Amino acid sequence: MLVMARIWETAVGSGDFTCESCGALYSVHVEETLVQDRSSAHCEVCGRIMADWQSGHRVVFVLKERPGPDRDDTEE
Ligand SMILES: [Zn+2]
Repeated sequence: MLVMARIWETAVGSGDFTCESCGALYSVHVEETLVQDRSSAHCEVCGRIMADWQSGHRVVFVLKERPGPDRDDTEE
């Protein structure tokens, strides 16, 4: 999966990740863990799955910046 490859390449240890659906900016921390569990990360802003994985890693997404007012649906 392209998204995951990007995460592993740019965020080994820690780095930034941008949601491709809405443009929200996240800080990503990748940690190794002994738990072989399947996990996924959902965007807090748009709710889409940004990444899912099944391996001995734990990936923490911390929202840093919400996307700009691209669409103005909240005008009320
Ligand atoms: Zn998003």
